[in-house]
Amino acid sequence: RNQVKILDVPIDATTQGEALNQLKLFLEGNTLKKVYTPNPEIVMVAQEDQELLRILQEADLVLPDGIGLIIASKMKGLGLKERVTGVDTMDRLLSYCGAKGKSIYFLGSKPGVAEIASKNIEEKYRGIKIAGFHHGYFKEEDEPEIVEDINGSGADVLFVCLGAPKQEKWIDKHKEKLNCRLAMGVGGSIDVYAG
Ligand code: UDP
Repeated sequence: RNQVKILDVPIDATTQGEALNQLKLFLEGNTLKKVYTPNPEIVMVAQEDQELLRILQEADLVLPDGIGLIIASKMKGLGLKERVTGVDTMDRLLSYCGAKGKSIYFLGSKPGVAEIASKNIEEKYRGIKIAGFHHGYFKEEDEPEIVEDINGSGADVLFVCLGAPKQEKWIDKHKEKLNCRLAMGVGGSIDVYAG
């Protein structure tokens, strides 16, 4: 694993293609893999937020979602290869999931958004299975039920769209209980699919 540290945050030096290959491997594994796509703003938040810093350090893949990280890497002579955005990565992953008949679950966004996004995704990525979704405006006491719903859905991939750093913390909090192969924090990407 080739990682570069930007202000103590380890970022994987991958290309988009390499990132997808890594995600495919994660999907074939039998434990939960945690994937985040921080931008420079989140790297700055992690300077003050020790919990977020630890979560990023413990992630299985951290993708540089922001040209600022590539510029910082170049200035310091570090080895980041190219920008790998959350939404591009999600796009490639959805395509792969469609081809392989893998199932996905969306947690987050405003009520109603995930339904529309799911319909659009089913049309665009033929073969994909939408295992379920839940909006992102829940109370803490609802979380065990949400985890049960995710596990009961049999989803291979969980996309968490709560905004950063909420989504990273949510994945970390429930990582021992989640049965999917891959949990990825993708911010507002789901809003993009809802159009
Ligand atoms: N969001 C959510 N629950 C919250 C806060 C935000 O589901 O408590 C959703 C919001 O509706 C949006 C997504 O998180 O769909 C991303 O929010 P934002 O644009 O603030 O985050 P970013 O993409 O900048 O990380």
